[in-house]
Amino acid sequence: MAQDTYTEFATTGVGKKLTKALGLPQPAKLRRYRPGAPLIHGPVVLIGSTEASDALARHLLSWGLDVRRHVGPKEQVAAVVAMFDAVSTPADLSETVLAVGGLLKQLKSCARVVTVFRDPAQSQLPAERAARKGVEGLTRSLAHEMRAGGTANGVMLDAGVDVAAPSAAGALRFLLSGRSAFVSGQFITVGSDHGMLPTDWEAPLQGQTAVVTGAARGIGAAIARTLHRDGAQVILVDVPAAGEQLAEVTNEVGGTALQLDITRDDAGERILQHAQQYYGRLDIVVHNAGITRDKLLANMDAARWDSVIAVNIESQLRMNRALLDSELFSRPEGRVGPRIVSLASTSGIAGNRGQSNYAASKAGVIGMVAASSAELQARHGTINAVAPGFIETEMTAKMPFATREVARRLNSLSQGGRPEDVAETVAYLASPAAAGTSGMTLRVCGQNLVGA
Ligand code: NAD
Repeated sequence: MAQDTYTEFATTGVGKKLTKALGLPQPAKLRRYRPGAPLIHGPVVLIGSTEASDALARHLLSWGLDVRRHVGPKEQVAAVVAMFDAVSTPADLSETVLAVGGLLKQLKSCARVVTVFRDPAQSQLPAERAARKGVEGLTRSLAHEMRAGGTANGVMLDAGVDVAAPSAAGALRFLLSGRSAFVSGQFITVGSDHGMLPTDWEAPLQGQTAVVTGAARGIGAAIARTLHRDGAQVILVDVPAAGEQLAEVTNEVGGTALQLDITRDDAGERILQHAQQYYGRLDIVVHNAGITRDKLLANMDAARWDSVIAVNIESQLRMNRALLDSELFSRPEGRVGPRIVSLASTSGIAGNRGQSNYAASKAGVIGMVAASSAELQARHGTINAVAPGFIETEMTAKMPFATREVARRLNSLSQGGRPEDVAETVAYLASPAAAGTSGMTLRVCGQNLVGA
């Protein structure tokens, strides 16, 4: 992992003053999740007097949060939750928006603003859809304006989903917590009332078995560690050539290793056999293994194009078929349904010079999860993608210095994310509290300024 010396300097006392005086990017030390630490430090202000906000307030109170409707003009605020679920014309936005604006100067570092609203695409009334789309626009803009490691995100509910539904509360909690440190300017969609809030928030995956591909290093290793920390038993998959590193991570998390090239025709069956033999169950599949073979399209050859498509998307399609056709993964009687989380990339959303093969494969992942969602939901399961932006790994350490430095700063948090940031989002999407969220792609990119 390449060192980010600029952020190290900018977070010192002198560095803070100098970067401010010179108008340079001011990356802050992000508040990340630590088991045992409070969910958030300080008052959470709930704005909007809809009936629904009372129901949501009950969840916040049950988590031991200091929930307020108002704060004094000098009081510091850790988070603002703004309810827009009942807006029906753009004029309805103003009161709540201005109340949020009035609190921004009182926000602590690494604060959170979360907007709660209904999915614009589900309204056929022009004024209502305009109002709902307005919430998207203001949330994204606010994310750009947040300072000192703060983020702004939204929870977007389908028609008929209760504001206090388990997955709505689960999404809100994720966005308030340090688990979402590198998620900003994004929306979590809640499409159904499915889901269960865990009795132990520190072990939401207790008793479940997960498989992670590409787990020998980088983001995959972080995902294996995080799923293990959250209570899951983990099967770690990687190519035989990465055997030594794979064994190390496997020992660390007390899991089991499976040396396997995921492009093999029988990769899905091999995973099922392993899960049956060691655990007798399989609940969570994380498709993380991925490769890059960058070249401008004018210089692209068949080997580069085909290998990236084969590893990054074709293998996932083939494995999913085998897994979903199996009793072990697909029909877990009396348990939570099958959960799949797949790694996409912001390159798959915005495109990237020299990455036509990679972007095609990652855009393919986004399409695949959207199209597979109905099948998973029919089995009370979910499938989602996570699209990382610039993450500090061996993959990005190989970038030329200047390109890497630019890529790091080009997001609202002015720094690269860590593999753990991606892992936290994967773990959240695999958890029972996210069972109402399916078919979506959630970006972990610090609100990358390039692209969508
Ligand atoms: P990495 O190269 O550090 O690790 C990838 C792992 O996948 C390696 O251990 C590798 O051996 C394994 N792998 C590759 N081909 C395989 C195969 N055929 N079968 C089994 N295992 C195989 O990559 P990373 O940076 O940790 O990225 C992990 C995922 O996140 C990838 O899908 C990548 O495209 C995606 N991603 C990364 C970034 C980033 O900034 N690092 C950004 C966006 C998306």
